[in-house]
Amino acid sequence: MISKRAQAISPAATLAMSKLAKDMQTDGIDVINLGVGESDFQTPENITTAAIAAIQADKTSFYTPAGGLDELKQAIVDDVKRRYDAVIARNNVVVTTGAKLSLYALMQVLINPNDVVVSAAPLWVSYVEQIKLAGGQLKTIQANNIALKLTRADLEMVSDPIKVVIVNSPTNPTGAVYTRDEITDILDWAKTRDTYVILDEIYGQLVYNGTQFTSGLQLQELEDSHMIIVDGVSKSYAMTGWRIGWTLASSEIIAAMNKLVGHLTSNPTAVAQYAAIAALTGPQDAIESMRLAYEQRLNTTFDRLNNVPGLHVAVKPQGAFYLFPKVSDNILSAAGVSSTYELSLKILQEAHVALPAGEGFGMPGYLRMGYAKDQAVLDEAIQRLTIFFKQYI
Ligand code: PMP
Repeated sequence: MISKRAQAISPAATLAMSKLAKDMQTDGIDVINLGVGESDFQTPENITTAAIAAIQADKTSFYTPAGGLDELKQAIVDDVKRRYDAVIARNNVVVTTGAKLSLYALMQVLINPNDVVVSAAPLWVSYVEQIKLAGGQLKTIQANNIALKLTRADLEMVSDPIKVVIVNSPTNPTGAVYTRDEITDILDWAKTRDTYVILDEIYGQLVYNGTQFTSGLQLQELEDSHMIIVDGVSKSYAMTGWRIGWTLASSEIIAAMNKLVGHLTSNPTAVAQYAAIAALTGPQDAIESMRLAYEQRLNTTFDRLNNVPGLHVAVKPQGAFYLFPKVSDNILSAAGVSSTYELSLKILQEAHVALPAGEGFGMPGYLRMGYAKDQAVLDEAIQRLTIFFKQYI
């Protein structure tokens, strides 16, 4: 019999939608898959070349240290010095199989049964299940500001002691970016309590139209603090498939995570670690050229999506690569469905566009559209959506 723990887990809504889309593509149907958070750019060549060289030099026939190669940890230490002028040590770093495993391990290391974890809604799909797996109690705060960001005032309203606050800036799925003051307020609030703050900064290098990204590393030291940073190479370097992410935290938290990941994976894949070293220590101009392309796509697609009848994005995203339009109230009944989840399946079946529904992000009534795709593809998707939604207006 499958365990109750496993039965309680929902599949990742984004991956589930993407799989449906891929199955239809296999059947020869021309589906536009805007369901999953991956770039359409290739991993830059200096990175792939370094990975091939690592294979040829046989750097792959042994286990690396569980929490990553010292050389990669040093590259991360140097990278945060360069990006944020922050001074951290290698024992503040654990490298994991993607930022996703960093977050999973963090939940396991920080959360006791029934501990309260707070996040703004909408929130990234995997936080929900990872918190569940650790036995924690998730309280989502449907932030009442229009950008859907968590504030210190929201935290003050929670009556139970909070063990962990998760702040994802830039946010998946809204693209909201927290200001320096907003992050400072939350960190200061947590400092006086036994509350840890996980800052998921995986989209930190993808901000647009002059938006300033603030990293927690610019505001607080890591050692002796309750601040935890999660980052990785997936999004900034178009390296989602390589599966390299990391956590930066006090050496006490890192030591606990090291123990755990040693049993989960032994180590992140060696060749991917060498690729990540090349990413962090090589030329950085590919990040900027991809960022500029996403910015252009955002600016064009934001206006075009807002012209689709029945869909509306109130606040223009400042970062990441998603739009999170609200579906007009009357659309569901007109389309004969009872939820945006059902609507997303109907859109996939009839318009052949894969957009995961807000339900997976703790926010029914919305759809998520990834725009890390060529503009022509985005335009075709918008045209199909326009035809689909016009039927119900
Ligand atoms: N955090 C957020 C908010 C994400 O959107 C993602 C990827 N979709 C991750 C973490 C995980 O990234 P990785 O590919 O490094 O596991």
